[in-house]
Amino acid sequence: MTQPQPLLEVEHLKKFFPIRGGVFGKKMGEVKAVDDVTFSIRKGETLGIVGESGCGKSTTGRAILRLEEPTSGKVRFEGRELTALKGEEMRKMRREMQMVFQDPFASLNPRKTAGEIIAEPLKVHGIGDARKRKEQMKELLQVVGLDSFHAGRYPHQFSGGQRQRIGIARALAVRPKLIVADEPVSALDVSIQSQVLNLMEDLQERFDLTYLFIAHDLSVVRHISDRVGVMYLGRMVELTDRDRLYENPLHPYTQALLSAVPVPDPEPEVRRERIILSGDVPSPSHPPKGCAFHTRCPHVMDICRDVRPEFKDHGDGHFAACHLLDP
Ligand code: SF4
Repeated sequence: MTQPQPLLEVEHLKKFFPIRGGVFGKKMGEVKAVDDVTFSIRKGETLGIVGESGCGKSTTGRAILRLEEPTSGKVRFEGRELTALKGEEMRKMRREMQMVFQDPFASLNPRKTAGEIIAEPLKVHGIGDARKRKEQMKELLQVVGLDSFHAGRYPHQFSGGQRQRIGIARALAVRPKLIVADEPVSALDVSIQSQVLNLMEDLQERFDLTYLFIAHDLSVVRHISDRVGVMYLGRMVELTDRDRLYENPLHPYTQALLSAVPVPDPEPEVRRERIILSGDVPSPSHPPKGCAFHTRCPHVMDICRDVRPEFKDHGDGHFAACHLLDP
């Protein structure tokens, strides 16, 4: 049976930021925030991307939506090349892909009411008249678990969890197919996190959504994802089904990350050995040659210092980039 075409395909995506200095703002170097990342997402799937702060996961999400212009690489949505779209075409395409941001307080205009914030994308995309938009806004409030009287309130009058519900309603307003959620629950109390994650799962089913879910918290990603990708220093180092990743991580970096996550069952917890990584994450302006993880890897070999390992399928869609895995 042939697999359906993925909703989103990302190929060799790169996003480098110039470092400028001196009186004339001369380019002195570049930060390789995203350095040759390839993956795809099937329709209706949730792909989680994890990694430490600064690993390039948020920039990857922003470059896909072209909130940051990619340096190179391809992004295809339903087979259409996004990086080639201009002006009005890209604006139309934006309806299909929306973003939910980490800090709902910073991403909601403090001078607008919740109702105005939710209805704004409808207005921007010229959907419906004022009456229809108001109806849709009220429906969206209800869909995300808020009441219609909340429409007249301002962002500061809501709790963090409620603000994120407003952010989600705003993203949903134009009925997108893909939502890129960038650390959507990390600013929230742990008790509220699962409510918002459950809401996102319900909405996914109800509205047939596909998610790219970006987070640094492995247990949050495990909760919501079908497949998980692990990023380190701008590169994807491992990508596979959620359970396979958590039960049988192939890449030494993933193994170290997972060894630090507490598991609820005390027995394996006692047997588990925590892998402590030495050193700090190198700067993305001077990434190490060869494997970017070689400065911290407990299994480093000579080849790792010179040759960048290829990110490839090691069976059943379990992708990883590590020389240890090569025959
Ligand atoms: Fe470690 Fe080498 Fe594998 Fe990199 S390629 S993760 S340095 S063993």
